[in-house]
Order: sequence, then structure tokens, then C-alpha cells
Amino acid sequence: MCKIGIIGGGAAGFFAAIQCKLLNPETDVTILEKTSKVLAKVKISGGGRCNVTNVESDPVKLATKYPRGERQLKKAFRNFSTTDTIRFFEERGVPLVAQEDGCIFPVSQDSQSIIDCFLNECNRLNIEVKKNFRLDKIEQVSNGGFTLIAENANLFFDKVIICTGGAPKKSHLLWLEELNQPVIDPVPSLFTFNMPGNPITELQGSVVKHAITKIPGTKLTAEGPLLITHWGMSGPAILALSAWGARVLEEVGYEFKVTVNWTGIKNEEEIRTELKYCAEQNANKKLDKFGVFGLTQRLWSFLLDKFQVNKEKAWKELNKKEFNRLVNGLMNDEYPVSGKTTFKEEFVTAGGVDLSHVNVSNMESKIIPGLHFAGEILDIDGITGGFNFQAAWTTAYLAAKGAVS
Ligand SMILES: Cc1cc2nc3c(=O)[nH]c(=O)nc-3n(C[C@H](O)[C@H](O)[C@H](O)COP(=O)(O)OP(=O)(O)OC[C@H]3O[C@@H](n4cnc5c(N)ncnc54)[C@H](O)[C@@H]3O)c2cc1C
Repeated sequence: MCKIGIIGGGAAGFFAAIQCKLLNPETDVTILEKTSKVLAKVKISGGGRCNVTNVESDPVKLATKYPRGERQLKKAFRNFSTTDTIRFFEERGVPLVAQEDGCIFPVSQDSQSIIDCFLNECNRLNIEVKKNFRLDKIEQVSNGGFTLIAENANLFFDKVIICTGGAPKKSHLLWLEELNQPVIDPVPSLFTFNMPGNPITELQGSVVKHAITKIPGTKLTAEGPLLITHWGMSGPAILALSAWGARVLEEVGYEFKVTVNWTGIKNEEEIRTELKYCAEQNANKKLDKFGVFGLTQRLWSFLLDKFQVNKEKAWKELNKKEFNRLVNGLMNDEYPVSGKTTFKEEFVTAGGVDLSHVNVSNMESKIIPGLHFAGEILDIDGITGGFNFQAAWTTAYLAAKGAVS
């Protein structure tokens, strides 16, 4: 009987183990987890609700959500996509529901439903889960297979799937380098921007439904909802920018500038027309009586001050210079960023096992046959929206398929 060892009892590890048994019930599958608790990240994911996948099902469009891994995932999603994820959970009695923004959650709105589903499947399929096994080293056995070495035990397996998640530092992946498996330096992705002392933070709690963010001097841009927090800015328009810019922003020590287009409209003429119309319709009203472009009155009033336009004026008193300042300010409002925060956010690691040394059709190492990878250990990461779990499910499925064949 083929013995498959799965290192890491997280999302990718459990999914890979279950898929191994579903694809070949004759295999003997063991999950090895370093802590006393499995699926810890699933538990806290999506604010405890677990954003398990996304409504986007087209492999090409889906792959564009991944700053690292896009090309390889395009292929992978043809084999296991979001629709397969939905089917997997619904067939096992976990109904899912999509939000307006495309994010999919369990109907229960509780990540425990996903955890229970995995634990029940492990029970049903006779998958062993060994806790408190921290892998220190992998040794190849000369006539095939691997010895997994931990402080408290040495175990033999014919095939191994590594699902140890994102490592914050390259030094945590020394055991992979000892196997000559190339690793790309890990850096954090999906973080919020700190703006210490900036008056915008006084507007904490303000949400803008659709903003466009950019990092001047780069091609980095993102759009979506933006949230003003007591430490700076957050929300999908910021998190996506942090993901696309993970490496560049690390290189500058997280000291940079961000510009915000508060209107969510890219075309300057369109903004001018809308602002002109607003001025005509509200000629006698005070400028800060209400917010424009869906902005709250509070934020609009703040911006008027920032763009040095006297908010006590009526719309009809707005002169050409002020009008231009408003258009320019609304489109390119600049803020200095100093540092990042991952508090309470969905953070992931960019970097990890270099994909150019992995066969993406079965996630097997091109250097060490029989060794497969799945999940965040790979140099794959997505923006927020259930994309990181989807990458874990897809790569775990492919790794399992490869390991059982
Ligand atoms: C707060 C938070 C919220 C998130 N919310 C979402 C969300 O809603 N949707 C989404 O798509 N993504 C979300 N993510 C990202 C998502 O959780 C990860 O991308 C996903 O968990 C990766 O799965 P994984 O199995 O590769 O790694 P992990 O889930 O990190 O699991 C790795 C496991 O391996 C174990 N391990 C590590 N080293 C060893 C070793 N040497 N020996 C044995 N075991 C080891 C670890 O203890 C861990 O249990 C969130 C992340 C965070 C931090």
C-alpha cells in the first residue's frame, strides 16, 4: 500500500489528504501537523466566516487575481476551479452563498462548518492526523521514498506532499534548501498602509465604495472599496495594491506615497462633467452641504479643506482655479505611507517554493520525484476575495492526483 505523508494540517494539507483518498482509496494517508491544533487559519479566516472561494469560474480571469502564479494557475484552474470547490463542499452538506462582491462563504457564516466538513471526511476516509509532529528534515531513501525527521519521531513515506503554509523568513525553509529545492525570498503581502499622524485618520470608519489607488512612479494600481482606519488606509483597494506591490514596497522599506482617486472614475472629462452638473443643480447651496461622488459629507468636507477650497462658499461661487483643483485633487489625492499593518487582516506570504522547479500539472518537484507541494508554501498568492483558499484547494487537488498516480 502506498504511504503518503502530508506535512501541515492546514487548508491545503487537509484538502490534499482527502483528495488522495477520494482518488485512490487504497492509499494510506497521514497528516502531520507541528502544533496541537489543526486548521487554525481556516478558523480565523474571513473574520471567522471563511471566504472559501469566489464566484469567478473562468480560469483565465480567475488567474488574474494572483500577483504571483498567474501563468501557472491558468493551467491548474482548468483541472480544478471554483466550481469544483463549490461542488466539493455542497456535496458534503456545506451549502455556500455568494456575496454581491463575488466572495463565497458557508451559509452558516461560520468557518467551523468547513473545519467540521474536513474532520468528518478524514474520519470517514480513515485519514490519520498526527499532531505535535514538527518536520525538521526530509531525507531521501536510496531505493525510493522519504524519511521525515522530527524531534520526537522518524517516519517513512513513499510520497510526500508539503503543505506547511507561508514562511515569513527564508531561514524557516532551510530544510527545503538542503534538498536543493529553490525557494524565492518570502515577503509579506496583503497589508494595510500606515499613515501616522495624518489628519485623514481622524475620519476612521469612513468607507468609500469605489476608489482607484496608485503608487506614483510605478505601474501599480488597484480599485475597489477603501476604508479609512485609525492608523491609515485599508480595504480591498489598498490590500490589492499591497499584493501587486509586495516586493517593490518591501524594497523601499514600506516608505512610499499612495494616490487615491476618490471618484472611482478614470476619465477626467467625466469627472468634470459630473462636478459641473452638480454645481449647476446646487448653485445656491454651500459646497460642503453634501458629499459628491457618493462620498460622505464628512470626507468631502475634509477634502475641500485639503484642496484649499473655501467650503463656506456656494457652488456658484466656485472659480475656475478652484474647480480645477477639485478635479485634480479628487483624481490624484496623495498620502505619504510609513509602515504597514496586518492586524486582523487576511495576510499571506509572497515567495516560497520557486514554481519554475515544480511541475504544475501534478505539483511535483522537478528536482526530487515523489515530493509534491500545495498551498501557500508555493510562490503563489492572491488578492482578497477567497482566492488564496482557492489556490490551496487547486494545488492540493493536483498534488494529490500526482501523489496517488
Ligand atoms: C487572518 C487571516 C484570514 C484569512 N482569511 C482568508 C479568507 O477568508 N479567504 C482566503 O482565501 N484566504 C484567507 N487567508 C489566507 C489563507 O488562510 C491561506 O492562504 C491558507 O490558509 C493557506 O493554506 P495552507 O494550508 O497552505 O497553509 P496554512 O493554513 O498556514 O497551514 C499550514 C500548516 O502547516 C503547519 N506546519 C508548518 N510548518 C510545519 C512543519 N515544519 N511541520 C509540520 N507542520 C507544519 C502549520 O502549523 C499549519 O497548520 C487568511 C489568512 C489570515 C492570516
